[in-house]
Amino acid sequence: MSALTTSNENTKPRGGRPQSYDLILRIQRYDPEGGRRWLQEYRLEAGRILRFVDVFRKINDELDPTLAWNSSCEHAQCGTCAVRVNGKPLLACELLVENAVAHWGGTTFLVEPISVASVVRDLVVDLAEAYGRVEAVKPYLITPAPGKNQGQEYQVAPGDMEAYLEATRCNNCFCCADACPSSHKGFLGPNAVMASVVRLLDPREEGRQERLKQLYSEPGVYRCHTALACTFVCPKEIDVAHFIALAKQGGFSKK
Ligand code: SF4
Ligand code: SF4
Repeated sequence: MSALTTSNENTKPRGGRPQSYDLILRIQRYDPEGGRRWLQEYRLEAGRILRFVDVFRKINDELDPTLAWNSSCEHAQCGTCAVRVNGKPLLACELLVENAVAHWGGTTFLVEPISVASVVRDLVVDLAEAYGRVEAVKPYLITPAPGKNQGQEYQVAPGDMEAYLEATRCNNCFCCADACPSSHKGFLGPNAVMASVVRLLDPREEGRQERLKQLYSEPGVYRCHTALACTFVCPKEIDVAHFIALAKQGGFSKK
């Protein structure tokens, strides 16, 4: 394992709480040109309220411009900065240094790419490949019901929307799919199943038979063993397992 370091002269407690920490990040690297995989160690000082995306940027600026990682909105809305830290999938834009130190009780972190798709380079995975699972369930209205008032938009009653509103916060970060112990065994995956369940709860969907057929097919809901890892890791605090349980119970009635 190779190691790169910055100076650490500012780690001074102020008001009892350190303003910065000397971190050791062991990051899983992958070079697609040479096909080489290795663990690289970076030692650097980081302010307590830096997020892990800021720490990656600091590594690029101060230690190693070749480290590749992914982010876009950096406000937990797009899901592209998902990585594993000490084995837990999470959004690097949400994890503050001081929270990571408090949660794991140390300043050494193993950072790896999520495991739901091929690694392109270092922490960057092929999101198009990952999205293939979601696209497979057709996360849109397959057959839109005609509006109740001819020529007007279809208005969903607030009470109907309540049933699935929580799931619409999903940003397809694939943290749940990474954590799911069944996700790598041919299962569509928690977020993909949830995306289909949402449309079954949506009164505008008439393509219900196609959805049900897929949900109860070989890669469908019965691959889920209700370990609840999906709900546990979801950064949007969605009860993913609840939506999967709805699918297992069946009984989606047409409104
Ligand atoms: S359900 Fe949660 S963990 Fe899963 S993809 Fe959506 S936001 Fe991410
Ligand atoms: S509850 Fe089902 S979908 Fe969620 S992590 Fe467990 S096996 Fe995977």
